[in-house]
Formats: sequence, structure tokens, C-alpha cells
Amino acid sequence: MSKFNPIEQFQNNLSSRAFAIKAKCAECMGCSPNHLEKGFKESISSCSSYSCPLHGLRPYQREKSLEGQKTPVQNY
Ligand code: SF4
Repeated sequence: MSKFNPIEQFQNNLSSRAFAIKAKCAECMGCSPNHLEKGFKESISSCSSYSCPLHGLRPYQREKSLEGQKTPVQNY
């Protein structure tokens, strides 16, 4: 598939907590090892499941700069 598929990234880095969380969030938004759901990064970024234990750790969170402007989606 794609090197940008978070689930596949995790399968190639099983000891990485960051990849594990990223893969779980991608799976939660409908992705699979063979499918990337359109707009999944934005969906994770705007996830409103505040009771999810991973909510504060999820990838693609937007951060505000000192001027109050939003920065692009993170790529880690
Ligand atoms: S933080 Fe949101 S996207 Fe990630 S696993 Fe939890 S509910 Fe799903």
C-alpha cells in the first residue's frame, strides 16, 4: 500500500507508541492496511470523542501559534 498508511507504518514499527496511537486513530476513522479513508487526518484532528483515552495523544492536532494562527496538520 502506501508508506503514508498509519496502520502499515505501525506494522513495520511494532515497538513505536506514536505509530501505535496513529494507527489506532486511523483505524477508528475507517482506515485499514489496504484502505485510507478520505480526509482521515482532518477527522482525527477534529475528533470530538473527548472521553477516548487517546484523545489528548491523537496525531494531526492543530496548534495555535503565538499570533493565534493555526499551523498545518502535523506530520509525525
Ligand atoms: S482519539 Fe478519536 S480518532 Fe483517536 S481512537 Fe480516540 S475516538 Fe478514535
